[in-house]
Amino acid sequence: MDQLNSIIGKIKANGERVTLQRRIVIEAMCNLTGHVTIQNIRTYIQHEYKEQDLSDTTIYRILQWLKQVQLVAETDIGADAAVYQLLTHPHHHLICLSCGGVTELEDAQFDLLRQELNNKYGFKARIDHLAIFGQCRHCAE
Ligand SMILES: [Zn+2]
Ligand SMILES: [Zn+2]
Repeated sequence: MDQLNSIIGKIKANGERVTLQRRIVIEAMCNLTGHVTIQNIRTYIQHEYKEQDLSDTTIYRILQWLKQVQLVAETDIGADAAVYQLLTHPHHHLICLSCGGVTELEDAQFDLLRQELNNKYGFKARIDHLAIFGQCRHCAE
């Protein structure tokens, strides 16, 4: 609940409106830890808020808004559906195309890249939650 309130506080501080539907989606993101799909969020809402019926499109729009205000990342991790992740613990992934193994990367891995993109191009890169595909050490042998 603390996390939910702190996120909502941040949004309000930016002058954005938090409607009931937005609040419910943020709550779902807080309670469903890790990577979540629209389907996961929908199932959560159906379970916790039986009177609310948010369509996939509505949930998708709210997630796009959360992405815009830099609270959520949307990533293709090679699964059927895009996954969404709260940006409370920035991290990235190495994903093996052969075995499907996933290795977590610290956000600091990209500090140098961010710095260079800024120096060379004046570009402020937003690397929120990156999936890098390839082959793991084990499969490459
Ligand atoms: Zn992740
Ligand atoms: Zn592998």
